Order: sequence, then structure tokens, then C-alpha cells
Amino acid sequence: MKVTFLGTGTSQGIPIIGSTHPVCLSDNPKDKRLRVSVLIEWDNYTYVVDCGPDFRQQMLRANCAKLDGIIFTHEHADHIMGLDDIRPFFFKQGAIDIYAHKRVIKALERTFAYIFETENKYPGAPSVNENYIDGKPFIVGDLQIVPIEGLHNKLQVYGYRFDKFAYLTDMKTVADSEIKKLKNLEVLVINALREEPHESHFNLEEALDFIDKVKPKSAYLTHISHLLGFHDDVQQKLPENVYLAYDNLQITI
Ligand SMILES: [Zn+2]
Repeated sequence: MKVTFLGTGTSQGIPIIGSTHPVCLSDNPKDKRLRVSVLIEWDNYTYVVDCGPDFRQQMLRANCAKLDGIIFTHEHADHIMGLDDIRPFFFKQGAIDIYAHKRVIKALERTFAYIFETENKYPGAPSVNENYIDGKPFIVGDLQIVPIEGLHNKLQVYGYRFDKFAYLTDMKTVADSEIKKLKNLEVLVINALREEPHESHFNLEEALDFIDKVKPKSAYLTHISHLLGFHDDVQQKLPENVYLAYDNLQITI
């Protein structure tokens, strides 16, 4: 399985428009972060988790020519606003599979009403096949995916386990019963916003505590704010086998 970090930034991305913060002005490509998403490929299957406002640019950058589906964590704008840009895939492949909690699909129906239109639909609009996730494991391609539930402030969100790989973002609270589903991971991806506490995201300390509980072989941090600091400085401070993810990073599991 190959995982490509398409974006590793928090909701505004890095740099933030108009910001003069040193991290936003950094020339290091590792300090430039699009909105969070990962591309997951195995055998001939290609899936993304989330589809934010940078989706088009991410698909071009990753040279992605085929997409089997999109698995959504939750409905916030930085995770869904690229959905219209599935059109090139839809024109070639037909309706694209989407997987999400029922509440998230309802939000997509409101935000992208023209995509879900059943009468007099505009011919250029894309179509999707809706697949509801209810907390039970489900199959995509030939692989069983295990949803991992957490809270983003008070909003229910899903992370996902793909065999020995798990991707969790926008988590602030994860129950022990969910942590049990993360045993024996090769790689865990978990959100770490900044050092200061935040009401809806793990800060660095909370993310490191979470990694300590899950004990994966290695862990990567994502959904990063410019306030966490320069990539190279933060990486030096991290424990062994914990890495700050960056855009375009690829890992093989
Ligand atoms: Zn987010």
C-alpha cells in the first residue's frame, strides 16, 4: 500500500493569505501545506480521504488519473469543498463512490445540491454513488476499512484504519473503545495543530500522548498550523519514530 500526503495543513492552509508570520514566509517546500488529504493506493485501487478546496491541485500534483472513491472524515469546508473537481474522473469513469456518515452526506447534498439533483440535472455536473458509513467495518475495493470514531470539539468525526495503516484527523477526543481498534499498526497518522491547546484539535502534546497509547511502529503528524513552527525545527524535537508529515511525502506500508 502506498500513501501520499496530498495536504498536511490546517483549515486555512500554509501560507495563510496575507500573513507575514515567518513560517508563512518560509522558502522550505516542507513548510507549504495544502488542506489535509491522503491518497491511498493498493493493487489497482486508488482512494482519497477527504476532498478539500485544494483537491484539483493535489490530483494534478500527484498525477492521479483514476479515482475509485472518496472517503470523508466530516463535513467541514477544508475537507469537502473540492467535490466539484471530481468532474474529470466522472467524465471518464462515471459516478464516483463516496463514503461518509449519513450526516456528512446530508451536508454534501446541501452544499452541492446540483450534484445530487435527480430532475433536469445540468449535463456538466458530476454524479456520485452514496455509501453510508455507520461505524461498522465496510469494504472498499477488496479491503476492509474500520471506522474509528472521535470528537472534533462536539462534532462526531471518523478516522479510518486500512489494514496496518490508520488515518485520523481533526480529533480532540477518542474513546478507549476506539483506541482498541488501532492495535498492531505499522503507521498511524494523527492530527497535531500547534503547541497551544485548541478546543477542537489535538495539540502536539495530546497527539504524542495518543501515539503513546496506540503504539504504532511509526507515526506521522498532520493538520498542522503555521503556529507549530518550521518543519525542520519541529522534526528535531519529536521522539523516535514520530515524523512531521509534509505535502508530497510518500510512504509504503
Ligand atoms: Zn479540518
